[in-house]
Amino acid sequence: MKTQKNHLARLDQKYLWHPFTQMQDWLKREPIVIVSGKGATLRDANGKDYLDANSSIWTNLHGHQHPAITSAIQRQLGRIAHSSALGLANEPAALLAEKLVGAARLPQPDLKGNPKLEKVFLSDNGSTAMEVALKLAYEYARRSGLSKNPKFLSLEGAYHGDTVGAVSLGHIDLFHKAYGGLLFRSDKIPAPYCYRCPFNKAKPQRADAREYVQCKRECVGLAEKAFSVQRKKGNPYAGFVFEPLMQGAAGMIPQPKGYLRDVAEIARSNGAQLIADEVMTGFGRTGVGEGRATKAPPLFASHQEGVQPDFMALAKGLTGGYLPMAATLTTQRVFDAFLGKYEEFKTFFHGHSFTGNQLGAAAALASMEILQSPKSIQERRNLETTLRKQLQPLWSVSQIGDMRQVGLVAGIELVKNWQTKEPFALRERAGIRVCEAMAKRGVLTRPIGNVIVLMPPYCTTASEVVRMVSTLGESVRQVFGKGEL
Ligand SMILES: *Cc1c(COP(=O)(O)O)cnc(C)c1O
Repeated sequence: MKTQKNHLARLDQKYLWHPFTQMQDWLKREPIVIVSGKGATLRDANGKDYLDANSSIWTNLHGHQHPAITSAIQRQLGRIAHSSALGLANEPAALLAEKLVGAARLPQPDLKGNPKLEKVFLSDNGSTAMEVALKLAYEYARRSGLSKNPKFLSLEGAYHGDTVGAVSLGHIDLFHKAYGGLLFRSDKIPAPYCYRCPFNKAKPQRADAREYVQCKRECVGLAEKAFSVQRKKGNPYAGFVFEPLMQGAAGMIPQPKGYLRDVAEIARSNGAQLIADEVMTGFGRTGVGEGRATKAPPLFASHQEGVQPDFMALAKGLTGGYLPMAATLTTQRVFDAFLGKYEEFKTFFHGHSFTGNQLGAAAALASMEILQSPKSIQERRNLETTLRKQLQPLWSVSQIGDMRQVGLVAGIELVKNWQTKEPFALRERAGIRVCEAMAKRGVLTRPIGNVIVLMPPYCTTASEVVRMVSTLGESVRQVFGKGEL
C-alpha cells in the first residue's frame, strides 16, 4: 500500500479547479498525475503506463511525442514563439491558412450551391471558432438582407462549446440550463439518434441501430418542416449549425448515411448558411472511407457527405493535439460583406491576443503533413478495421445496448437491459464506474453519461486496440457482474 500522496497530486487538489468535474468527488481520491507520453501511451508519476483511449479528450491525432511535430515546434521556438496578428503577418500562420484552404477543397462539389472555403480566421479553441462563425453568420445575414433578426437552428443534444454564444447554439440541458438567463434563443430539431428514435419500429438487435432501424426518415421530414415553418414566419433561418456525421458530447450520436446531405440541401434551399462544427470530427477522425490507400481521402466529415459548409470550425486535432489553436474557415462572399472604407466600420471587430500564434501554426503544419502522407492514411484505414473487428465480441455483454463506430471513434452505450434499452439513471454513474475500472487496468477514457468513448490516437497499434476493447469488456463485466448472453 502506498501511504504518501504524490506531491503534485496534493498541490493539484489544494489549488486546481478541473473542467466539467464535480470537485467534491475529485478531492476524495488521489488523482492520476501524468508526467509523460509517447505514442498512444501516457505515464503517471508512479511510473504506471496507460493507453490514451480518448486521445486526451479527442485532441491527439498522431500520438504523443511525435518526432515531426516536436521538432517543428522546437524549430519555431528557435525563431520566435509569438508575435501579434493585430497589424502583423507571420510565416507559419500564412502557410497554415494556405494549407487549410487546400485541405478544405471539396473534390466533387455535387451538392447544388456548395461554396468554396477561401478565408481563414484563427483563434485558440473550439468554442471560440464557433463563436466566430456565429458572429460572422449573424452579421452576414443582416448585411446581405437575408434577415434583420437572424435565427439559428441546431440539433438536439448539440454541443458547440462553452462560451455564451456557443452555449446558446447547444442543447444539452445538463450543461446549459443553468445559464439560460445569459443566452439567446436558438431552435432545435431532433437529432437522428437511431438507437433511441421514437419513430424506429425495430426491436433492439445485437448490432449498431443504424443497421436495423425501421423508419420513414422522419428526422429529415422534421428538418424540412422546421425550415418551412420558419420561412413562412417571414424570417428564414440564417444558419443551420451541426456536427457532421457524429455528434460528440451528445453521446457519440451518429447520423445515418445521407442524412446530412439531405438536411444540408433543405437548409440551403431555404436560404440558411451551413455552419459545420468539425471541432471533433475534423482531420480524419471520421475515417478515410472507401477507395485506394494512397488516394487523398477527405479530412473533414462534411465532405464525406458531399457537403461543403459556408463556415467550418476546427480546433481539437488542428495541431495534432499539441497546442491550443482553432480556425474558422469561410467564403469569399462572407469576407466581402465586411469590406468597406475604414469609416464605414464594417470591420469584423473580434480577435484574440494569441490569434495566429506561431508555435501552434507550426505544429498544425507538421500535423497536416503527417495526415496527408500515404503511411498515415494506411494506418488510419487499418485502425478503423481493427477497431470494428475488436468491438464485435462485446455484443455478448448484456449491458451494452448500442455500439456505434464512425471511422476512428466509437460510442458504446451502457443499458440495464439490452432488450428493453432501459437506461441507467445518471446518478448511478454507470459510465464513470466503468471508466474507473478501466483506468485501474491501464486504459484511460472519459464517459459521456452512459456512453463510453473509444477514440484512439491514429498511431495506436492493433495490439493496443485489442487491449483497449478487451479492457472495456472486462470492466463492464466487473462493474455490473456477469451479464453474458
Ligand atoms: C470540444 C468541442 C467544442 C469546444 O471546443 P473547446 O476547444 O473545448 O472549446 C466545440 N464543438 C465540438 C463538436 C467539440 O467536440
